[in-house]
Amino acid sequence: MSHTLQISLTPDLYRPVVFPDRCVCCGATREAESTLALNRFVMRGKRQEAVTLKYQIPHCRRCARSTKTVFLAGCIPFVLGFLVVGLAVFLIVTYGASIRGLDSYGQPNNSNSVVLGAAAGLFAGIVGGFLFEVMARIILLPVMGRGLLAAPLLALQLLDDSDYVAGLRGKLESDASSVHFSFANDDVAREFRSLNGAEN
Ligand SMILES: [Zn+2]
Repeated sequence: MSHTLQISLTPDLYRPVVFPDRCVCCGATREAESTLALNRFVMRGKRQEAVTLKYQIPHCRRCARSTKTVFLAGCIPFVLGFLVVGLAVFLIVTYGASIRGLDSYGQPNNSNSVVLGAAAGLFAGIVGGFLFEVMARIILLPVMGRGLLAAPLLALQLLDDSDYVAGLRGKLESDASSVHFSFANDDVAREFRSLNGAEN
């Protein structure tokens, strides 16, 4: 069971957050740090502003290493799937549209087929990245075990603007008014709450 606590960021967006001085995942002695980075576009009046919050999360050496391998185990197959599937669909759609005469519409030298191919390729690439990541996870699960199982899929993290390190998931509210921390370890969550006066 994970334990979610909310930190209000109003009025100070860059309000410092204190983490307990031990590994957020297993509670062992602090030996290393992992970075939790939250990025989001937020509407400020009429324009969009990029908000980036970075937190240094205490980890033991083992959990810091597991955070890195879990990230790579998601990132490498995702990028590979994106490139392989995206590129294949881009080429097929562009070529198919071109021989069907899509480029003869509109202005001369219009490359309608390339635009259509790129849009289809981008969409297929994201789907391909997701599928490759799921496949890699099934293959790697017996080797990497629980650390991998607990991590959300990279494609889902991209979609909901969250970030994950071993034992902790962070998510920024859409208007940047608050940040949510979900702890896997209840003791660490309790200590975090008393250090920061977090709300439930
Ligand atoms: Zn640990």
